[in-house]
Amino acid sequence: MDKRHIAILGSTGSIGRQALDVISQHPDLFEVELLTANNNSGLLIEQARRFKPNSVVICNKELYNEVFEALDKEEIKVFAGIESANELVKGDNIDIVLAALVGFSGVDSTINAIKSGKVIALANKETLVAAGSIITALSREYGAPIIPVDSEHSAIFQSLQGERCRIEKLLLTASGGPFLDTPHEEIMKATRHQALKHPNWSMGAKVTIDSASMMNKGLEMIEASWLFNIPADQIEIVVHPQSIVHSLVQFTDGCLKAQLGAPDMRVPIQYALSYPSRLDLNTQRISLPELGQLTFRAPDREKFPAIDLAYSAHKQGGNMACIMNGANEVAVAALLEEKILFGKIPSIIEQTMARCSFIASPSIEEIYATHKEAMAIASTLV
Ligand code: MG
Repeated sequence: MDKRHIAILGSTGSIGRQALDVISQHPDLFEVELLTANNNSGLLIEQARRFKPNSVVICNKELYNEVFEALDKEEIKVFAGIESANELVKGDNIDIVLAALVGFSGVDSTINAIKSGKVIALANKETLVAAGSIITALSREYGAPIIPVDSEHSAIFQSLQGERCRIEKLLLTASGGPFLDTPHEEIMKATRHQALKHPNWSMGAKVTIDSASMMNKGLEMIEASWLFNIPADQIEIVVHPQSIVHSLVQFTDGCLKAQLGAPDMRVPIQYALSYPSRLDLNTQRISLPELGQLTFRAPDREKFPAIDLAYSAHKQGGNMACIMNGANEVAVAALLEEKILFGKIPSIIEQTMARCSFIASPSIEEIYATHKEAMAIASTLV
């Protein structure tokens, strides 16, 4: 494998930090060119000193001086503002862009990276949920492949390697989150603190809350539909509490293929960066005899209405998934700020979907406008 030059958008978040851990295990194969962060200037400075990128961007402009002065003696260019990040991802020095921003904020920079023909290692599922038809069309037009970083989609992508057989069905596994066996009444009254306790995965706050509501699986269903060009009714969500089988593909000959391993995001991150090669990684090895059994069951769609909201949004098409995503972002932020209880999240999303203007085939400008409108409506419902 030739050395690959990497940009990490969102380097101080959970995915960004784990990506740098992967990169540090293969200094001969990966070179960091660009790191961006929203507000965590301290960690950005530390990462910059260690990985010596060509440039760093601190998106919060008020923190520019702090980062600039701290990196004064290094040969690292320092920029401020998300617009600088959107510009720098186009650089000729970059081969792969790891899109690890959280939420809708990742759309702009992902589009810029696609338009520059970069390989996109996509960790930002909201980009495909909000603008899937536009993003996938641009990816084809500019020859910019999208390699999934999300563990389920990486598992499907890995299972499809070498296959020419048609796909009959995708099976997306879900841990079920912290409320899998919690009675409905208790879920309704759950707090931020209870929702943040994920049993298996170490992830950022937004995706952890989404896992608790199972909206994460709804978003992932839409993400999978766009990535693999499979309609929603051929994607099944299966609860698998051990998080060892990371997802499966069922082919038209009835065979199922899956990818298994310890729940560790560094595995799909590394695969996206090294694809089609596989590299060594010092992650935990699973012992099947120690595990004893792997279990599967259907999700409880009454307890977790977010699943049906996502299927409904995706089937309606147009800007509806963008509306759903915008409302979810507002509801999750409100829970994190302890303004609402957990049980209110689905109703905020459902009401926003009913009220926001529907557009059957939105342009990218209309997607941005939809996101704003959905956020505004959802905010009034908090
Ligand atoms: Mg996932």
